[in-house]
Amino acid sequence: MDIGIDLGTANCLVYVKGKGIILSEPSVVAVNNKTGQVLAIGEEARKMVGKTPGHIVATRPLVAGVVSDFDVTEHMLRYFIEKASDAQGFSFHPRPKVVIGIPCGVTEVERRAVEDAGKNAGAGKVYLIEEPMAAAIGVRLPIQDPGGNFVVDIGGGTTEVAVMSLGGIVRSKSLRIAGDKLNEDIINFAEKEYKLFIGERTAEEVKMRIGSAIPMEEKTESSIKGRNMVTGLPEEVTVTDADIRKAIEKSVGEIVSTIKDTIEEVPPELLSDIMSKGIYLLGGGSLLKGLDKLIEEETKVKTQVGDDPLTAVVRGAGYALEHLDEHTEIFLETEDLEPPK
Ligand code: ADP
Ligand code: MG
Repeated sequence: MDIGIDLGTANCLVYVKGKGIILSEPSVVAVNNKTGQVLAIGEEARKMVGKTPGHIVATRPLVAGVVSDFDVTEHMLRYFIEKASDAQGFSFHPRPKVVIGIPCGVTEVERRAVEDAGKNAGAGKVYLIEEPMAAAIGVRLPIQDPGGNFVVDIGGGTTEVAVMSLGGIVRSKSLRIAGDKLNEDIINFAEKEYKLFIGERTAEEVKMRIGSAIPMEEKTESSIKGRNMVTGLPEEVTVTDADIRKAIEKSVGEIVSTIKDTIEEVPPELLSDIMSKGIYLLGGGSLLKGLDKLIEEETKVKTQVGDDPLTAVVRGAGYALEHLDEHTEIFLETEDLEPPK
């Protein structure tokens, strides 16, 4: 039974061949710093964030989209591979083929690290696929055609912009500004404006609730709870959609600029095709209200949020898994894989 994994910086999703998506959990690992022991992974580890004694740290091993901690990544992969087999009540014999989505533009060393982590975690063979490619396949864009496809995958740690044609990536840019950075912006805003310390989850919640890239028809507000930096006491303040928009404006602007820069580099023969098909936004970050409108205004290219953007990458990895032998050109070359003919 083979599996596809979206090893995202914020969320990991697992697809089992013939079954579909069987799990989705945060990419968090709790480690005891004194012993190096891994205490919890996924949802369970996330619950520990910020609530653990000093020597227990909940880490996000894929910070900014690359493998920052090899051992922890291996643990995480093993956990997901095992959980996939448990959930289905079977064991993996022979060892499974595993398709893993990784960011574009990772180095050869990082690529090898993910592959090795996958093998150490129980995979028989590892196939790597670039995330925007997987995302495009996930929403069934015709990436095999000679026409162009323009995809922006906004995750937690990275924004990946990619232009695809004939089953390959023609141009891509990766930016280390995405959903997490917006949370950070909101934390900084609360500190500066209200001398209020707020946690990451509070920031994320308020972003999802009232955050937007452009003014929405209705003005909204939300209360946030934190600790006053001066008095040290708990405090609640009310913030508006305009406050949040202002807080995240610069980061959102950088995402838009990166998209514009990529458009400027699109080979002319693909440009008219992209003008007519438009830009597809994928990944959880694309759910920020009004982001599609802002990008459309700024680029003058029709922009839409793809279907179920949080699961696009894993659905694409799953599709690739179901068609492993047909489309070898979509995978990054690895040691074991025959180069495309
Ligand atoms: P990754 O692929 O890096 O794991 P995901 O595609 O899972 O990332 O997206 C996670 C990011 O999407 C997080 O930063 C999260 O805050 C953001 N996100 C999810 N839902 C929304 C929403 N409704 N509005 C704004 N941001 C959102
Ligand atoms: Mg992702």
